[in-house]
Amino acid sequence: MSSVLESQSTQVAAAAPAGFSFQLTEEQRAVKKMVREFAESEIAPHVMEWDEAQRYPRELMGTLAELGLLGVLFPEEYGGAGLTYIDYVNVIEELSRVDGSVGISVAAHNSLCTNHLFLFASEEQKRKWVTPLAQGKLLGAWGLTEAEAGSDSGGTKTTAVLDGDAWVLNGSKNFITHGSVGDVAVLMAVTDKTAGKRGISAFVIDLHQKGIHAGKKENKLGLRASDTATLVMEDCRVPKENLIGAPGEGFIQSMKVLDGGRISIAALALGMAQGAFDCAFEYSKQRKQFGKPISEFQSIQNYLADMATEIDAARLLTYRAGWMKDNGMSSTKESSMAKLYAGEVSVRVANLAVQIHGGYGFTKDFKAEKFYRDVKLCTIGEGTSEIQRMVIARQLLRAGDR
Ligand SMILES: Cc1cc2nc3c(=O)[nH]c(=O)nc-3n(C[C@H](O)[C@H](O)[C@H](O)COP(=O)(O)OP(=O)(O)OC[C@H]3O[C@@H](n4cnc5c(N)ncnc54)[C@H](O)[C@@H]3O)c2cc1C
Repeated sequence: MSSVLESQSTQVAAAAPAGFSFQLTEEQRAVKKMVREFAESEIAPHVMEWDEAQRYPRELMGTLAELGLLGVLFPEEYGGAGLTYIDYVNVIEELSRVDGSVGISVAAHNSLCTNHLFLFASEEQKRKWVTPLAQGKLLGAWGLTEAEAGSDSGGTKTTAVLDGDAWVLNGSKNFITHGSVGDVAVLMAVTDKTAGKRGISAFVIDLHQKGIHAGKKENKLGLRASDTATLVMEDCRVPKENLIGAPGEGFIQSMKVLDGGRISIAALALGMAQGAFDCAFEYSKQRKQFGKPISEFQSIQNYLADMATEIDAARLLTYRAGWMKDNGMSSTKESSMAKLYAGEVSVRVANLAVQIHGGYGFTKDFKAEKFYRDVKLCTIGEGTSEIQRMVIARQLLRAGDR
């Protein structure tokens, strides 16, 4: 069955401008509007219930798949919607404007697990894994982080040893999105201890197989309806053919996957910042003190102006990184810039959104409180702000790329 997004993809490709434009095309606006309507009607009514219960809403997968949102970037021949990074930014932004938990889930599934396989798997592996992932028949996870390998992901300790026709994996992965609810994962493990980062390889693993199980499920500050858990491997025998690419390529593959992943975290930040702004804006027009709406006080107007300006700047950086991806350009620096800036903007905007709500912003009766908790992930996940600055500075210094 073709998805709603898929049916719009050919028009988008045909209408794509040669250079860049500050306006979305009609088709891009239609995709954005469709996702906004879906988020407001199907997600918004349940957001606090899922958050309080810390429950991943697996029941959403059917509709997300039907709309093409679980295979946004992948060609139709692999079951995807065949859309662009600009569309992908809009999809993640609109979902996250309503619920960052759904936003991060869709982002991790698309740009980490599925995209790793799409970029680096063999044709046979793509048919086996990318197609059901893009169709939303399987939910994907991706594991690089470990207890001792966070920012320093080259410090991976999980091992994979070839034994006959199988790789035997031992170790554990921390903070894995969909760790306890996913069906399949791409995981990094050391295959050559003498080779440093070049000894790390990537594997695709069925999460329902023997030898791998979810450990601790994190009790989180925010994004509480997204599933974050440890994955434990104990003599986990993975068929030899589940190695992705050649041995030793896993680390460099991961860095390339993160170039795209960081655009999705920028979009996650952007969406939550926009959601926080929208609720603060409406509240400021309704709340009266000293006989008039608080939006008439200059302090509040300054907050609104700063929030709107920073959100716009974050959106432009995020679109630029997406546009570069769509045009086949390397975007390491620009993806990191978008992720760094949008992540930090989301924290500032959510803080001001609570401030504009006064005491009510401190309660769970208003959305500002949840945005304030959720946005913090954006300065941490897929590389902290400190690491983004390192990546940007390295690119500036190494490539003379200014
Ligand atoms: C909700 C959530 C979902 C996640 N999902 C996934 C997932 O699906 N898959 C996955 O693999 N990982 C995932 N992660 C892990 C995430 O990418 C890591 O938490 C992140 O990379 C930081 O690693 P760490 O937590 O070990 O922090 P650390 O690396 O211990 O960092 C601690 C502090 O030290 C700073 N620091 C570290 N090194 C340097 C340096 N060289 N210079 C300056 N400062 C430095 C950091 O910036 C940070 O402020 C997730 C995390 C969360 C919270």
